[in-house]
Amino acid sequence: MLEKSVVWLQDVGSSDLRLVGGKGASLGEMMSIGLPVPPSFAVTAMAFRAFIDDTGIADRLFKALEIDVNDTRVLKEAENAAKELILMTEMPSKLKEKILDYYDTMCKNEGGEVYVAVRSSATAEDLPDASFAGQQDTFLNIKGGEAVIDAVKRCWASLYNSRAIFYRIEHNFNHREVDISVVIQKMVDSKKAGVMFTRDPSTGAMTSIIEASWGLGEAIVSGSVSPDHYVVDRSSKKIINQMIPTKDKMYIRDPETRETVVVPVPQGMRDARVLTDGEIMKLVEFGEIVEDHYGIAQDAEWGIDEAGKIYMLQSRPITTIKDVSEPSESSEPVEEEIILVGLGAAPGIATGKVKIVRKIDELPKVEEGDIMVTKMTTPDMVPAMKRAAAIVTDEGGLTCHAAIVSRELSTPAVVGTKKATSLLKDKMIITVDGEKGKIYRGSLIKEKVHEEVKVRPVSYRHITATEVKVNISIPEAAEKAAATGADGVGLLRIEHMILGLNKHPSLYIAEGKEDEYINELVKGIKTVADAFYPKPVWVRTLDAPTDEFRSMKGGDDEPIEHNPMLGWRGIRRDLTYTEHFKLELGAFKKLFELGYRNVGIMLPLVQHPSEVKRAKQIMEEVGLDLETTTLGIMIETPAAAIIIEEFLDVGLDFVSFGTNDLTQYTLAIDRNNENVAKLYNERHPAVMKLIEYVIGVCRERGVMTSICGQAGSKPEIVKKLVEFGISSISANIDAVDAVRHTVAIEEQKLIVELVRSNRGLIDK
Ligand code: PEP
Ligand code: MG
Repeated sequence: MLEKSVVWLQDVGSSDLRLVGGKGASLGEMMSIGLPVPPSFAVTAMAFRAFIDDTGIADRLFKALEIDVNDTRVLKEAENAAKELILMTEMPSKLKEKILDYYDTMCKNEGGEVYVAVRSSATAEDLPDASFAGQQDTFLNIKGGEAVIDAVKRCWASLYNSRAIFYRIEHNFNHREVDISVVIQKMVDSKKAGVMFTRDPSTGAMTSIIEASWGLGEAIVSGSVSPDHYVVDRSSKKIINQMIPTKDKMYIRDPETRETVVVPVPQGMRDARVLTDGEIMKLVEFGEIVEDHYGIAQDAEWGIDEAGKIYMLQSRPITTIKDVSEPSESSEPVEEEIILVGLGAAPGIATGKVKIVRKIDELPKVEEGDIMVTKMTTPDMVPAMKRAAAIVTDEGGLTCHAAIVSRELSTPAVVGTKKATSLLKDKMIITVDGEKGKIYRGSLIKEKVHEEVKVRPVSYRHITATEVKVNISIPEAAEKAAATGADGVGLLRIEHMILGLNKHPSLYIAEGKEDEYINELVKGIKTVADAFYPKPVWVRTLDAPTDEFRSMKGGDDEPIEHNPMLGWRGIRRDLTYTEHFKLELGAFKKLFELGYRNVGIMLPLVQHPSEVKRAKQIMEEVGLDLETTTLGIMIETPAAAIIIEEFLDVGLDFVSFGTNDLTQYTLAIDRNNENVAKLYNERHPAVMKLIEYVIGVCRERGVMTSICGQAGSKPEIVKKLVEFGISSISANIDAVDAVRHTVAIEEQKLIVELVRSNRGLIDK
């Protein structure tokens, strides 16, 4: 037994999961294929088992865990009792000596007493999901034999954290059958560190992308510095793109306290390239080795120490590349745990307590971190949506209110589940995967280790010829949207703002409070125009369907329509009820008077040029100067696309594709109807043909083209749009970086093709 109680990780591999847990096995596997991993050994799961059996504490330990886990106080008491038992029980001396022996050998090999990270490594084979491993602790900066022994015991004790106990009982795991291994790894104080994607994470292209900064990797993973960015073509092994921004701060480990601290980067290094060509190529090579070994694109962390030695710190599959990679077994919960499926509307994963909202007055029960479950969200639910960790709805498609607002709030959301409000129950713990559109029973949150931030914002700051803008629906999102560095706002929807007032414009008019309404509009638009000034902000006039407006105070007169999507919405509403339109225009007039010349006006849902002509007349009537007003239309109806020439004849500065509607009207698919959501396809050749045609005409006529529908956030469509020659693309806040990146790559490709074809002509 004892010879398997402590092992060097180079002697184990992925088949040794039961012995050294998921983390130990994967590090061992990396070592076994010749990759440089910091020296590491593991106290095996067997050693833990021997500890509780040989010391006779097993029965008492497991007895303490026979509790009602839904009683938080009792759960906490069980945690304390189990932990105390482990911490107070002496480790068998033979095991202790063996651990000390391995630590000494590591220190000797490394030329002195070393700092180590002591990490829990759960034997995930027993479990459906490796995320379980993250429920145990990691201890950093441990030095000295006794401290290592102490940390190993604390890792063991963490097997009985409340969350872990709760999880096991919820999932019917027997505590007696769950073991834990502990990995002891030399800490690398990186001089340079970063991340590497072995393929382009948004397109799957065969380019390695490396981001590097001075000091520890925390700077990059926390997103607090702009790192160097290198793109390497894997077939030619050439650096095809690089950006070297100024790096003014770095994270280092304080030599005295061992705390991670932020310090200024020395002057000479600020603008210097972090990696040499040799280091870049070495990293690419290591990345290829791991990718070849696992047969799937990898997302790796690496560090280079003072002596210039490169270490691979961890690697895991990239799961965002849909066509090239299968999700890893370890991160994919087993099928039977999925309790509900809908449309993944806003990416991200969150676990929390279900709170069902059937009526508005139930909103207060949604507390910070809860999962809000409702039939469909409405603008007056936004404050509760902000508190929620995730949102689940019965109804809706990818462009419904819940989907749009969740994306702006960066809150994971699944919509159109049909039965969330009937199937889920209050206080149930669920996990929502807003990308895959799946809802799991219980907590399946990914591993979270203190020093490793798992959310990795990759900062692509390309300058592109095609502008990349951002869509906004709630002014509260303005700052966050501006922080993306977007080139402006391609769509500011004002109906969310108006619906949020919860008072119908007609009621303002009836009460003689037109100025109040105008001021509300000015306030909301100004928040966005300020955040982006002087970049352009295209504000769309009211586009509210009757069903949504009816629920507002004073909205009783809204007609009841059989299909509101084909009904009295968009410009047709404003042209038949010009009092409303005039108030909106009054708000624009005021903004222009205040100097916000970056604001442009965009008319929704036009289907005939006469509508634009009429709108222009009303604009003149309220005193807007058409010469100086930036005016555009949305291309949302096939009609507008097909007779675009006639629209341009009326005089327009820009057109913007509203593909959410253009798709629904071209394909006859109600975008809010989950029964036909599977048929909804923005890439349909008919939709793409309309777009290509309109861009072509507008280019000839010198009119700007843009897109503000959901399709503009999708890399595969973005590529096509760049190829068609679109002037700008307006994406969701969370997609701006990826879109910018895709645009940059596509533009480069087009330039290269052009240069090559020109060269071909010259050669002849
Ligand atoms: C669209 O139709 O693509 C669009 C952006 O407008 P909305 O989603 O608000 O209808
Ligand atoms: Mg639309």
